[in-house]
Amino acid sequence: MVPPDQIRQLQALVGPGNLLSAQEDLWCYAFDATDHIQAPAAVVFPGCAAEISQILRLANRHGFPVTPRGAGTGRSGGAVPAPGGVVLVLTRLNRILEISPEDLVAVVEPGVITGRLQAAVEEQGLYYPPDPSSADFCTLGGNVAECAGGAVAVQYGVTRDYVLGLQVVLPTGEIIETGARTMKGVVGYDLTRLITGSEGTLGVITRIILRLTPRPPARQTLAAGFPDLEMAARAVSLILRAGLVPTALEFMDRTTLNCVREMLPFRMTQEIAALLLIAVDGHPHDVEERAGAMERFCREQGAGMAIRARTPAEAEVLWKARRVMSPALRQVKPQKISEDVAVPLSAIPRLVAALQEVSRRRGLPVASYGHAGDGNIHVNVLYDQKIPGEKEAAHQAVEDIFSLVRQMDGTLSGEHGVGLTKAPYLEMELSREAIALQQRLKRAFDPNNIMNPGKIFPPGRGRVTPP
Ligand SMILES: Cc1cc2nc3c(=O)[nH]c(=O)nc-3n(C[C@H](O)[C@H](O)[C@H](O)COP(=O)(O)OP(=O)(O)OC[C@H]3O[C@@H](n4cnc5c(N)ncnc54)[C@H](O)[C@@H]3O)c2cc1C
Repeated sequence: MVPPDQIRQLQALVGPGNLLSAQEDLWCYAFDATDHIQAPAAVVFPGCAAEISQILRLANRHGFPVTPRGAGTGRSGGAVPAPGGVVLVLTRLNRILEISPEDLVAVVEPGVITGRLQAAVEEQGLYYPPDPSSADFCTLGGNVAECAGGAVAVQYGVTRDYVLGLQVVLPTGEIIETGARTMKGVVGYDLTRLITGSEGTLGVITRIILRLTPRPPARQTLAAGFPDLEMAARAVSLILRAGLVPTALEFMDRTTLNCVREMLPFRMTQEIAALLLIAVDGHPHDVEERAGAMERFCREQGAGMAIRARTPAEAEVLWKARRVMSPALRQVKPQKISEDVAVPLSAIPRLVAALQEVSRRRGLPVASYGHAGDGNIHVNVLYDQKIPGEKEAAHQAVEDIFSLVRQMDGTLSGEHGVGLTKAPYLEMELSREAIALQQRLKRAFDPNNIMNPGKIFPPGRGRVTPP
């Protein structure tokens, strides 16, 4: 617990109104989008890198943990505070510092909401592709810390493919710059890539140089309904192999679709067991041709229904339904464990079949949807904690799913990170030697383990347990 005199020192560092310590305020920063919860000792809202540096020096002197936080939309518990620690909220650092059409670069502070940058660059005929479904409310700092993905990753890649350079306050208080404003750069170790995806454990990101691309002149969206889950899953890898180059290739099963059926521009008939939502972008002529080819290909692969959005507004209806799928699933059961496993493309049909088997074995609904085009399936185990045994069965189902994914040479997380939720399972994917090396790297950055302790590595110091 941070003693009162250190809270006063923090207060003096960030100025009046930029520190919260009342119980009712602390609980507002006790959670993210998981079910982990832990109230911090204080919440600070620094206004610049120099203030963050002083906060971290103070934390090192007195040994209290600090957890960086953007919008708290993370799905692995990364922003959940360590017990007795301080939450450092980056939302005051929310300026878009520069958009350069000449260099195809944007320079931003970490608290900028992703959707705000997307809209700002679009006004200048540019495009920032990473588009997590949470883009309207998550921050770019959180995106870099988690290496967020999104629907268009299948064509454009994930956040790390757009981060050219960073300003980072190290846990020991030094402020460093990594990378450069150039499209290439190989001077020294690639610290930009190491910090991208490091889940707030290696430092606080205070400025980000992002690569932009020209805005694609046209985009079309189509939806294809398949009578069979595995048939839809097989079509994913066939579409990619056929060279049809989708910009987005999303998959949804019937349980998920049923939760958003009122939003869909078509009737959810019995014949639709799974849906592929596909986008293609590029020059208008090429897009028209590829969308037509995609529609025909889906029908050849067994789709009983294939429709193309006629206007951007119609396309937005489909994408909006896709974005709300995660919260909509709570209609089925009040609690859910959401995992974002990824498997090689050829294994997607086997994975969706095996998920049905896990659902039967554990007696719980398992709904899946997600970025199938890059093998990243969001698997949701749905349960009601008031029904005896369901919570335990849900956790067993998650272990079953992780085992299956590893047997298929897949990964436990495609984009949500390890955080707290997957830390106990890290050894299912990484060798002891690889974990030990990562822990040595962590110590080199953070010798006193003050920076977001308890995240990523298997449970130990500073671990938070679910309520
Ligand atoms: C409805 C919904 C849909 C989602 N869809 C997607 C999706 O499609 N793709 C996807 O990848 N994710 C998705 N997410 C997960 C989440 O939005 C992303 O992980 C996002 O990047 C988190 O951003 P945030 O600002 O909320 O970060 P937070 O949750 O506040 O923090 C996440 C992690 O980043 C660290 N962190 C935050 N800011 C900084 C900083 N400045 N410096 C250092 N560390 C920092 C925190 O310590 C924590 O470990 C979704 C979440 C929800 C709720």
